[in-house]
Amino acid sequence: MELKEIQEAEKKYYSQTFTRLPVAVERGEGMYVYDLNGRRYLDMFAGIAVSSLGHCHPEVVKAVREQSGKLMHTSNWLYTLPQIELAKLLVELTNMSKAFITNDGTEAVEAAIKLVRKVTGKKEIVSMKGAFHGRTMGSLTLTSGEKYRKPFLPLLSGVKFAAYGDINSLKKKITEKTAAVIVEPIQGESGVIIPPEDYLTQVRELTQEKDVLLIVDEIQTGFGRTGKMFAYQHSGIKPDIICMAKGMGGGFPIGAIAFDCGDFEPGQHGGTFVGNPLASATACAVIKFIIQQQLPKNAAEIGSYLLNELKERNASARGKGLMIGVDVSDGKGAVMKLIDSGVLTIYSSNTVRILPPLIIEKTHVEEFLQKWDSVEGLR
Ligand SMILES: *Cc1c(COP(=O)(O)O)cnc(C)c1O
Repeated sequence: MELKEIQEAEKKYYSQTFTRLPVAVERGEGMYVYDLNGRRYLDMFAGIAVSSLGHCHPEVVKAVREQSGKLMHTSNWLYTLPQIELAKLLVELTNMSKAFITNDGTEAVEAAIKLVRKVTGKKEIVSMKGAFHGRTMGSLTLTSGEKYRKPFLPLLSGVKFAAYGDINSLKKKITEKTAAVIVEPIQGESGVIIPPEDYLTQVRELTQEKDVLLIVDEIQTGFGRTGKMFAYQHSGIKPDIICMAKGMGGGFPIGAIAFDCGDFEPGQHGGTFVGNPLASATACAVIKFIIQQQLPKNAAEIGSYLLNELKERNASARGKGLMIGVDVSDGKGAVMKLIDSGVLTIYSSNTVRILPPLIIEKTHVEEFLQKWDSVEGLR
């Protein structure tokens, strides 16, 4: 099949909700994916910060093969070992008291919303302008931006938005009725927005002082992306709830919350598929590999090298670890030209987002920069 045929079939049969780039991928290996004609692309966005070990990493493939040949599903009527092993790993990694596993990011946020309402008995949550927390009705309520929300009103009541990076704005939004504050350590979908250095520390101090829970959404920043296992660790704080997903399964769909603020009671939350053995065993393998191979350190080193190289080209670049945004005059145009040169990135309006697999090496950065330099208007 040719790209054009797939595009036509997609238009005919698939819900037209996605804005796709004109590449049909057939397979992947390491830092590269190959299209239907065997053309190779350097993958510099990793399926939106998901393919943390690159494509078809032997450790991930092995985990999927072994567990799928053993047991894929039982529901949560029964106990399975990989689920408990993963929960233990997450609890130890975050110094929290419990974990709950979900199928993706938005479900992690939904679990957090229910948990804070349950344990505080309060209804209000403060989110941030520019925030993205997901697309189901609860997480959508915490997501800012008319384009995401407007056709789906009314959403949950009691959600307010503070200016991101502005502690005084947050101070004004917190009231007696506030159950929790939810914040991304770096805003991803808005185009890699980095708050002031001491912002998270201030948010933690304020929420503690006001007796309000703090939910940190690490769905995009977690599991090594920014140069630490979790981005909140750059600030040395401890949140009450951490939402995770994206990079956690190395491409296998899974999410979780880890928390230290009470718990659900039997029957209050659940899911047929959540914490299934296949997803859990795969995530365990991915997380152990990230720890053993010190991939957060690699993200910090390669990320700062790449960021410096971009800045030396006078690019308007910012980032932390392997989460980098570059402002350009035409975001979509730049991404399309990079595709022509054989590199995959994504854009948020006029910001090109660079989120490569954490296994990236210096040679891949050189290859990327060479292609970047070849694009008219970027160099
Ligand atoms: C992607 C993302 C989500 C939603 O995750 P899905 O798995 O797409 O539902 C939530 N929060 C942040 C910060 C994200 O980047």
